[in-house]
Amino acid sequence: NRHFPSADGATPMMAQYLALRESAPKDALLFYRMGDFYELFFEDAKAAAAALDIALTKRGEHQGEPIAMCGVPAQTAEAYLARLIRAGFKVAVGEQTEDPKAAKARGSKTVDRAIARIVTPGTLTEDSLLDARTSNRIAALARTPGGDCALAWAEVSTGEFAACPCDASGIEAELAALDPAEWLSDEAYFTADARLAPRARLTPLPKAKFDAKSAERRLIERFGVVSLDAFGAFSKAEIAALGALLDYLELAQAGAPAKLAPPRRVETGSALAIDPATRASLEIDRTQAGQRKGSLLATIDRTVTAPGARRLAARLTRPSTRKDMIDARLDAVGFLAANKTTRRAMRELLQAAGDPERALSRLLLGRGGPRDLAALGKALREGETLAAGLGQALPDDAAPALLNQAVATLSLTDKGDLARFAADLGQALVAEPPLAARDGGFVAEGWSEALDETRALRDASRKIVAGLQKTYAEASGVAGLKIRHNNVLGYFVEVTAKNADPLMASDDFIHRQTMANAVRFTTTELAELEAKIAGAADRALGLESEIFESFRTRTEDLAQGLRQMAGALAELDCAAGLAEWAVETRSVRPDMVEEPVFAVESGRHPVVEAALKKAGDAFTPNDCALDGAGEAAARLTLVTGPNMAGKSTFLRQNALMIILAQAGCFVPAASARIGIADRLYSRVGAADDLARGRSTFMTEMIEAASILNQAGPKSFVILDEVGRGTSTFDGLSIAWAVAEHLHGINACRALFATHYHEMTRLAEELDHAANVSLKAKEWKGELVFLHTVAKGAADRSYGIEVARRAGLPDAAIARARTILERLESQDAPAAALADLPLFSATPAPSAPAKPSEVERRLTDINPDELSPREALDALYELKRHL
Ligand code: ADP
Repeated sequence: NRHFPSADGATPMMAQYLALRESAPKDALLFYRMGDFYELFFEDAKAAAAALDIALTKRGEHQGEPIAMCGVPAQTAEAYLARLIRAGFKVAVGEQTEDPKAAKARGSKTVDRAIARIVTPGTLTEDSLLDARTSNRIAALARTPGGDCALAWAEVSTGEFAACPCDASGIEAELAALDPAEWLSDEAYFTADARLAPRARLTPLPKAKFDAKSAERRLIERFGVVSLDAFGAFSKAEIAALGALLDYLELAQAGAPAKLAPPRRVETGSALAIDPATRASLEIDRTQAGQRKGSLLATIDRTVTAPGARRLAARLTRPSTRKDMIDARLDAVGFLAANKTTRRAMRELLQAAGDPERALSRLLLGRGGPRDLAALGKALREGETLAAGLGQALPDDAAPALLNQAVATLSLTDKGDLARFAADLGQALVAEPPLAARDGGFVAEGWSEALDETRALRDASRKIVAGLQKTYAEASGVAGLKIRHNNVLGYFVEVTAKNADPLMASDDFIHRQTMANAVRFTTTELAELEAKIAGAADRALGLESEIFESFRTRTEDLAQGLRQMAGALAELDCAAGLAEWAVETRSVRPDMVEEPVFAVESGRHPVVEAALKKAGDAFTPNDCALDGAGEAAARLTLVTGPNMAGKSTFLRQNALMIILAQAGCFVPAASARIGIADRLYSRVGAADDLARGRSTFMTEMIEAASILNQAGPKSFVILDEVGRGTSTFDGLSIAWAVAEHLHGINACRALFATHYHEMTRLAEELDHAANVSLKAKEWKGELVFLHTVAKGAADRSYGIEVARRAGLPDAAIARARTILERLESQDAPAAALADLPLFSATPAPSAPAKPSEVERRLTDINPDELSPREALDALYELKRHL
């Protein structure tokens, strides 16, 4: 919390600064515009200088203390903004709101300034600050006094604005699905809720901001409707969340509020519920290390535009539960997968169409430039060509509805306004317009007669100036005479110092400046031309900015059509990209059904397969059959097999099938029949962490609890090595109970990997459980993993056999066999070990007089405390000491 002094005794400028500081949000740094710089003062300066690693200086004194200051050039401010936002700051930008000349004219010592916008992670629109392929959302979480919760979200750069109800237990999953760059919540409730993960991105707001009544008023006013019912039946909590979000955005965009689409209501249950732990474990849109590369999304993404990539990410992070929607998406992918020529042609046009979504939003926010206009024009024209081509390729009957819709949206035939807009843009703009309208130079010749005339005037004068050089050189007899231009003098005549005399002597040349080795002059003629050129340039600039403004206004009028056009392009790119990937990976269309079945033949893990392929290796496909009704197949399958055999890969690949299928993607398999799941749970991989402590075990149990409390008959669960973080008996008992609960009470489809061999007995005891195992074999003393899943449990004595081959002394092997036999022959393993003579008491046949290093180490090992993985590690360690 930064402190600022009072304005007592401040200079006029400081008084203005402190007043602005007072009006800006406390948690934001204030960028105070002074000429070509944004300056920061007092504690803002200290914080920013440290975060940006720039010099901290002083500027004058306030109340007897030097004022700390630092600054960034306005020209390159974006880069600094980006760094500050990434470092967790918000920034209020205070701009000059009048011309300094005007301030002087009215006798004021300070130029008027106001907060122009507040830059926060969720309200960015600049391309340079955003990742093109990721959505940048901002969310708000509201809770009514009655306890109803709702989540609203917006994406400033696309205008998306929506809300959904969520029960208290579902908040985590909903937030994780949205993955907002920033989220707002009532400081009274959620700020203390430790479950809500991305806490760093939380902006707590006063309770009053979430008042449903005033929220409703704000929304009604903003969208110009009489009642919100026009947009759907919103609950109180949803209205509160939408209203708080709108208020925050309006504040952040001071003066130029984001053009949001009317609020949309998203039904709960329309998306597959995936909690944060599952999301992380399955590495859907980023790996556990936080990278996009190596995630499911990165692996299957073949889109050619940023909006297409964002659309795909939205699908994958929020797979649907609605059969009609999934099927419609699969229809589109299927058609494009089967029609290579159409697909290829489409992808080329799409690539050329670029990212109209973000260009449009910048224009609507008043932050766009000529290049954004050009982007819209180009997208409209490419979209039109695309619609014509695709329209022809689609069959009259049975064309996929989504593709038909996109063609209708993109075709400009009966959309006079948009068609004219596109054509006008094509004519009005130069081929490569500049980013900003400020300096002009973006309107093409032939668009405006007035502009062309002014430019001709300017060019003619320039030509005359160019001709003057020769005339003056001849007149003065100085061959090296040059006519130059700079911002201070304008046009001037320049000669070297030793050639200056003839010009000094002439009445025509007026001396302006003497440099070290050059002397500069002007002439009346030059000054007149200069004025003409400057006047023409000013007029041209004025005309250009008028033209820009008129196009910008048209963009506003056409916003809805433009947004639909951009949406259709994103949709097509997403579908064509998925088709491309499906063909490339020989994936098939899943047969989606409502019954909770799951039958995949020769399924593959798309990410592992892609990685193996790079290394020149092949992935071994595996079948998986589960039936939630427990009719055609077991609903609970126990997966056993040695470490590294491929258990977790098998588990994950089947969970990924659910995500892919419900996202409307083809799946990497020979065939798949998939019952739509309502919730997906994955707890896989954490168990590989050998250095886990008690708290990790606690986490594991909390996660297991959430599954057992929530999974239902339509859910799909994969669990790996439950109970591994505690002692053997504890762990086994917990794993056993969890499996039974999943089978009997949750009655969901589940894959359960375990190293507790005892658990394979469950298959006999439970009605709808089965065993499968991952096969490995020994070959020339080496362990070879086949990665094939076969019916039945893994071979138990396998570990000891490996140990023998690894060269463990015969005495130790014999001892291990004795213990194993005992364990297997008794119901209570603890009792089995109780009366077993101690190892050291058993005389080894070939025991050397003095214990060897290996033997000493072996005595220190307590097999009961080792997991299989640790045992294997211990074996390797022992072998090193042979
Ligand atoms: P486990 O969970 O049994 O310890 P993993 O699933 O982590 O084993 O798999 C270990 C390694 O084996 C993986 O990193 C992968 O490279 C390889 N692997 C797993 N399954 C397959 C498969 N079906 N085909 C080819 N390689 C596989």
